[in-house]
Amino acid sequence: MNSLPTDRIRNVVLLGQSGAGKTTLAEALLVMAGAVTRGGRVDDGTSVLDTEPESVKRRMSLSLAIAPLEWTAGDGRRCKINLIDCPGYPDFVGEADTALGVADLAVFVVSAVDGVEVHTELLWRRAAATGVARLIFVNKEDKERADFHGVVEQLRGAFGAGVSALELPLGEAGALHGIADLISGQAFEYRSGGRRPAEMPDELAAEEHRLAEALREEIVSGDDEQLERYLGGEVPSASELERTLADEVMDCRQFPVLLGSAQTGVGIDRLADFICDLGPSPDRYPAAVVAGPDVIQVAADSSAKPLVHVFKTLTDPFVGQLSLFKVLSGTVTVDDHLVNSRTGAEERLHGLFQLRGKEQTPVTAVVAGDLAVVAKLVGVSTGDTLAPKGTPVRVLAPAATEPMYAVAIVARTQGDDDKLGNALQRLQAEDAALRVERVEETKQTVMHAMGDTHVNVIVERLARKFGVNVDIVEVRVPYLETITGRAEAEGKVKKQSGGHGQFAIANLRVAPLARGSGVEFADLVVGGAIPRNFIPAVQRGVEETVAKGGVHGFPVVDLRVECFDGKYHAVDSSEMAFRAAAAHGLKQAMAEAGVAVLEPVSLLRVMVPADHQGEVMADIATRRGKVQGTDITAHGEHEVTALVPTSELAKYAIELRSMTAGRGSYTVQHDHYDVLPAHLVAKAIETLPKD
Ligand code: GDP
Repeated sequence: MNSLPTDRIRNVVLLGQSGAGKTTLAEALLVMAGAVTRGGRVDDGTSVLDTEPESVKRRMSLSLAIAPLEWTAGDGRRCKINLIDCPGYPDFVGEADTALGVADLAVFVVSAVDGVEVHTELLWRRAAATGVARLIFVNKEDKERADFHGVVEQLRGAFGAGVSALELPLGEAGALHGIADLISGQAFEYRSGGRRPAEMPDELAAEEHRLAEALREEIVSGDDEQLERYLGGEVPSASELERTLADEVMDCRQFPVLLGSAQTGVGIDRLADFICDLGPSPDRYPAAVVAGPDVIQVAADSSAKPLVHVFKTLTDPFVGQLSLFKVLSGTVTVDDHLVNSRTGAEERLHGLFQLRGKEQTPVTAVVAGDLAVVAKLVGVSTGDTLAPKGTPVRVLAPAATEPMYAVAIVARTQGDDDKLGNALQRLQAEDAALRVERVEETKQTVMHAMGDTHVNVIVERLARKFGVNVDIVEVRVPYLETITGRAEAEGKVKKQSGGHGQFAIANLRVAPLARGSGVEFADLVVGGAIPRNFIPAVQRGVEETVAKGGVHGFPVVDLRVECFDGKYHAVDSSEMAFRAAAAHGLKQAMAEAGVAVLEPVSLLRVMVPADHQGEVMADIATRRGKVQGTDITAHGEHEVTALVPTSELAKYAIELRSMTAGRGSYTVQHDHYDVLPAHLVAKAIETLPKD
């Protein structure tokens, strides 16, 4: 496939609810354009785009897939469409964010039977936030109970009056056989795979006339000059209307609706035509780039200096690392040397490819605006910018998806453990919605992901791609302990029978300190009751106990420890004996003083539509949370702020999703430590590691 010029490239992301038919549509477009001979099915594992075993098993897409195709548009000119198929399941919304970062047009696929679904709305909001142009394809028009008018009505309700149908179905459900074009007033029939002009059916003529006029008015009212001529009685031609509409689509003032069936092929060619005719080319959007202290706009100009943005990294067990990139400016050719602005290292682009599902086609050059793949750039990660030497620029990263669901992972064997770090690093490079950290307080490797399906997919990928087997366990809550009163105790080590003995006595006094003060140690020993050289050993014994765990086994905070007396033996006393004596003494004194377990409390902010606010607040109360306030955000959502014990939020990502049908979102941050109610202490102790 030769590279077409920038203005003939369309980078198109397919978005929509899982099951709306995105992958089937992508494959139908590929077959129609002759890019593949036969489309496959996600259901039976023959899909061209969804080839990962984890994807085939779940019958759904799990990561974005790119499929380039060439199409001759309505005006007879060739166009290269880089389709980006995105998963529709909420756990994988990070992939949609990545795709939105490089797409110039989003095609929303909506089922004619199910209409606007929860995830469609969520993705629409994300697309709107990036300002990308949008078309809507109402798919499954061939299915029983397909209702185009109902769905358009629903789309306008959800996404505003800029949503306008450009087509009407000829027949619907089992009777779907063609399309009426509201701009040209022509009808088309699809018979034996091809499209041909047809008579406008009588029963549709009046409706077509009415809707075509409304559409015309909608389009011309966005263009002052055209509007004036229209009001003067001049009816614009179909091509004039399309040109105006293309500008309105680019400015996000119009969101045209098309229809068809990915299954039977009705309307698919017209969708490709509209993508070429109405979709903006990459040179319509300059890229924002950081250059020193400034942010500059770089135009997608193929003759300028090359500027490459790596937007996704894949690891293939056979091919190794693949970096998916968009050329923001200039033209890159095989064997170019470019510098990674993050590391300063020079990278040679050995092999350039087009990727279609798994299939790779070598290319020699990639022009501005186009997407391609380069293999084996080991020092390059997702988000990196490559540019010629001496051009210190960096592409602005899109806002990252914050993964809110956390689990801890444990390697099954030592062999698994040895390979785990590297494997996780590679998976994180592939997946922007995965974050892994080692939490020292609880000695766990914690994985932050989007939900339980996402976690399961990562665990399967670890096993399949890297041969690393892990188990999932709950994230430990970092409980602490402190004291509630004052007390004294004598810590004693006495072992003087036979051989060399051990003897030490340390008298300790403990007193509580204010929250957040940490632990203080004071040496008040007078008269050499404990010789000076053993005092550091007493202090170490105290510090070790504080760190390793006090009476219940949790790290100790907020108390003052005074060593005020003791005894020693000229021969049998040692540093070891004093360390042990201090440890015993401290635990005894703490037990005597009264121990309180402290639990972390988080500041939770939940954003929900108004009708879910009551339920969310009631649920917070069942989690021992205290609502601090409510507010209404700029987007009209309700925001509930609450202080909630962290242990009660372990599965909140999943629970909030089911409580609000996916409409809620939240943030959480550590706020303070508070006393854990006594009846929950035993349960907290159970979470401690058993060793
Ligand atoms: P995705 O999750 O949006 O990628 O949806 P898929 O492409 O996996 O399709 C989900 C299911 O709907 C599959 O069983 C498809 O065969 C079916 N499907 C997709 N498009 C159509 C269509 O236009 N008509 C009918 N009847 N079924 C369709």
